[in-house]
Amino acid sequence: MKFDTVVKNAMIPQGDRLVPATILVKDGVIAGIVNGEMEPHLLEGVNVIDAEGNMVLPGCIDSHTHFMDPGFTHRETFLDGCKAAAAGGLTTIIDMPCCSVPSVRGVAEMENKLNAIKPQAIIDFGLWGGVTGEDVRNEVHYKIVREQADAGVVAFKVYMTPSVPSYPRVTDPEMLECFKAVAETGLPIGIHAENYAMCDFYVQKFQKEGRMDGPAWSEARMPLAEKVAIQLGISFAEATGARLHIVHMALGEGAILVGEAKKRGLDVTSETCPHYLVLDYKEAMSKYGAFAKIAPPLRSREDNELLWQGLQNGSVDFIATDHAPYEIPTEKAAEDMTIWTAFPGIPGVETMVPIIISEGYNKGRIKLSRLVEILSRNAAIHYGLYPKKGAMEIGSDADFTIIDLNKEWVIDQEKQYSKAKYTPLHGMKLKGKVVKTVVRGKVVYDEAKGVIGEPGYGEFVKRQTISKLDRKITF
Ligand SMILES: [Zn+2]
Repeated sequence: MKFDTVVKNAMIPQGDRLVPATILVKDGVIAGIVNGEMEPHLLEGVNVIDAEGNMVLPGCIDSHTHFMDPGFTHRETFLDGCKAAAAGGLTTIIDMPCCSVPSVRGVAEMENKLNAIKPQAIIDFGLWGGVTGEDVRNEVHYKIVREQADAGVVAFKVYMTPSVPSYPRVTDPEMLECFKAVAETGLPIGIHAENYAMCDFYVQKFQKEGRMDGPAWSEARMPLAEKVAIQLGISFAEATGARLHIVHMALGEGAILVGEAKKRGLDVTSETCPHYLVLDYKEAMSKYGAFAKIAPPLRSREDNELLWQGLQNGSVDFIATDHAPYEIPTEKAAEDMTIWTAFPGIPGVETMVPIIISEGYNKGRIKLSRLVEILSRNAAIHYGLYPKKGAMEIGSDADFTIIDLNKEWVIDQEKQYSKAKYTPLHGMKLKGKVVKTVVRGKVVYDEAKGVIGEPGYGEFVKRQTISKLDRKITF
């Protein structure tokens, strides 16, 4: 038998068209693609996944999650995170190094994390590596960057602002040192781009002035603080040859800066998140307060629009979630907690794909070929997982996200698989819903049955190669 599983009645992307196809799978890998339907007798004895005429995308990837395990499992376990991701149509996630105990800043901590999370994985996952200001001060940054790169991490993350206490921020010169160390590996360095001194100064100023409203968070951590941080990152990338990646870019003007850097030939890339595309800070932070508190903060409608444009013109390379759930009674809405003291972060893996389908593709903002790139292909290339991941090609993993483009539904925070039953996207009406998620030929989520993937099925995917995205800027 040349195949053991088929996905029938699939509508698959071919450039900007959807065409009917049957996808053949053998041992979890794509073995062939047949135009239209196959004779029923050819499917005897074969596991059949019926796509029912829906769109089938190469498995969608979220390359920016904080699944909080091991160490912060009161917020999320890796299993909870995987369930939520599977329900959101994600077949691979890439988890950040900071939100675990211990945080990942070397191979020993990475092995410790893998031991804790592997048995819980329902979908496939990769790992970010870690390096902090403290590692630079201890002069171990070259060593730990090299050892994690050799162990298969896809990239490295640094924070310009404080986040997790066990993952200290970098000062500007410490960030430069991290850029130099990571540049030697050929891997990307992702930065949380906000100028700490500016954020800290204006947060304190606003507090003194008695501001306690939700929007104050966004106004204190102002657009200019993100802009100058992105500009510094670009300058450091130019000076060191490092591949700079701006994670969770909230600032619309950031897309222009990144686009201009690409045009100058620099290896600068960026991602944005669904909430930065569809939420206005004044509306969302007035309505949801701490439940809409994130860093960088939500911005304006104008920023939403510039980021959509960036996604289509190539200056924003892909979508990720920054999924960072917190416990409501202790970390979001504890007694005496204010907009200044509540923890910043929201869940996102269940709503990323549907929002991009509904507000991007179905509304004509994003073409089909670009949809495939921003949800799957580009993250896979950028992080060296392509063509195992991010491709609907012979020999690629049989990972699929099956989407009913016409189904209308409403985001309900209570129904999320994530432990965090809140989201500032609560109540949003969408058109387009994930109906099945398939990882290496196995259905792990079926809308009718819920999450049916087995913990431990998901595999750790090491970086396969070093590969870069084309700089194709169309503005
Ligand atoms: Zn993050």
